This record gives sequence, C-alpha cells and structure tokens, in this order.
Amino acid sequence: MISNCNVFISHSKAVVLGKETVCDGHEDGYRLRVVTHAHSDHLYGLRESVRKCDLVISTKETKDLLMALGRREARFLVAVNGGDAIRCGEEKVRLIPVEHILGTAQVLVEREDGVRCLYSSDFRIHSAPIVKCDVLVLDSTYGSPDNVRPKMEEVHSAFCTIVEDALARGEPVHVFGFIGKVQEAMALLRRKKVDAPFVVSPRMYRVSKIYEKYGFCLGEYYSSEGHVGRKVLENDLHVAFFSPLEKHRSNISCVQIELTGWLFKTPYTRIGEKNYVVSLSGHSDFNQLIEYVDRCRPSYVVTDNSRGGQAVKLAKEIEKRLGIPASPSPPKEVTR
Ligand SMILES: [Zn+2]
Repeated sequence: MISNCNVFISHSKAVVLGKETVCDGHEDGYRLRVVTHAHSDHLYGLRESVRKCDLVISTKETKDLLMALGRREARFLVAVNGGDAIRCGEEKVRLIPVEHILGTAQVLVEREDGVRCLYSSDFRIHSAPIVKCDVLVLDSTYGSPDNVRPKMEEVHSAFCTIVEDALARGEPVHVFGFIGKVQEAMALLRRKKVDAPFVVSPRMYRVSKIYEKYGFCLGEYYSSEGHVGRKVLENDLHVAFFSPLEKHRSNISCVQIELTGWLFKTPYTRIGEKNYVVSLSGHSDFNQLIEYVDRCRPSYVVTDNSRGGQAVKLAKEIEKRLGIPASPSPPKEVTR
C-alpha cells in the first residue's frame, strides 16, 4: 500500500522522518535533531532539543551562522560535513548541501524498514542534487500555481540596474532582505563592480563575516552602528542593507529596495518615486517544486503545512500533474 510511511510534520513543526530523527522542530522521544539551516522558522524548539536529544546536528556553516546570530544553543550543535552519514540506532542520516542560505542542507534518512525519506528543507532548484527517495517532505512556501517568478538572471539584472542608476544620480540606496538574501545581493553587486561602500546592521555585519569566511567576496562594508558606518551613512554615497524589520533605521530620502519572494511574473515593480520591490527569492517557485518532485520520483509526497505557504494546493497539484499521491501535514495549517 502506498502511504506516507509515518513521515509527518508535528504540531510543534518538527519534520518526523523516522523512529529516531526529526528536523527543524522539537518532539519528545526522538534521539536525533537536525537543523537544516539558520532561518528562524527552522529553529523551533532548539533549546529543548539541546536538552533532550542525544545529538543535535547541522552543517558547520549553519553552526557558525547561529553563533553569529547569538543563539546560545549553537555551541551544543555537532557540525557534520555535507555528504557524511551519521548513524542513529538503525537509521542512517545524511546532510545533502543545497542552494538556499549558506549552510543549508537537505536530509536523507535511510531507515531500518528500507524506506528512504528525504526532507527538501528550503531550496532553490539550481544545482539541487537528484536524490531518489520513497517519501519526500517538500517545502510548500510557493505551492500555488500562480507563484511563478521570472528567470534569476532577469531579477539580478533588474536589481543591479536600479542600484547602479541610483548611485550614478548620486543617491544612496537602502536594501531590505532577510539574512542570506542580503549577503547574496551584496556579493552580486560586487561581482558587477559596484564599489560604493556598504553599510549593514550589526546583525547583518556578523552574518556577513561568516559568509566571507566561506569565500563570499563582499568588499568594503561597515556596521551601521560603528564609528565609520555612521559617518558613511550620513555623508557618503553608499548602499546599506537591513532586515525588513529594520526599516525604521533607513533614511526615507534614499532609494529603497525590498527583496522578496512574494512578487511574481515580473523581475521588479516600482511602488513609489524611490521605492522598488525586487523578486529575489531563496526558494523554488511553483514550477520548480513540481520539477523537483518529478526528478526525485518519490512514491509519496508530504507537503509542509506548518511554515505558511500553500501546502494543500501543492499536494493537489502534485497528484494531478504527476500522479504521485500527496497530502499536507499537518492536515490543518499550524497557525501559532
Ligand atoms: Zn529558509
């Protein structure tokens, strides 16, 4: 019988892959907790897991990012190399690096009963490995058929043009995005030879240092609360980067750009005289999610209904388009 083989997402948002292994949330009774990446919606119950699990693992990049973000539990994480297998009881667990933010990994559990369970975590399909599995737990953030974005190159080009044009007019630019996306935007501008100094919030500054440690070229940048950073913000032509929650730190006379995955079918849109929204996302869009499932060819797909998005619609579309049984988990979206 085709079934989810007891793979599900609990009400505490833990992705349960086997008898021993959970990811990105805590559930009592499981010995191994995996942290797939450093975004906050994948860190639920981490303090509890550190107290109650035998082992909490992540990639070394994720551990470094969590330390930089000031998560005290991070020092108890055991860093595992991408591709290495960890044995927990009868289960073999493997972290498979994938493109999202630095350090992101998918998780493959090969179980005692022979079932191969894969958790996609958040991912972009570019360069995502094809991992054959029996049950796939799938990110469903952009699971509605109208959640389709233009090509990444068009988005990159639009973003760089908006920044370069503003700087050429002598106007500073302030960019808003979550960690990972901001560092990607910084590196992109440097590759395009934008040489204005960057200013970033103190939190972004610490995260950027970790990105540099792993080979990203971010050029000259300063903390917005440091002596030099404050002077650059006040007096010099610059590009500043903040989290979307830090908009109050921005000077409204600057050109402002919000980086979001929630803009579809166009690379960017202008929402005010100096305000733009750019369609830059670390996630796969709807078409890419379907393509990914088709590549992995699981016997069953569990769509993640605990982290927002469109898990119910996505499960229906997977069944309709690919003929693979699929269901959202938990069946009703977790709202707390
Ligand atoms: Zn994420």
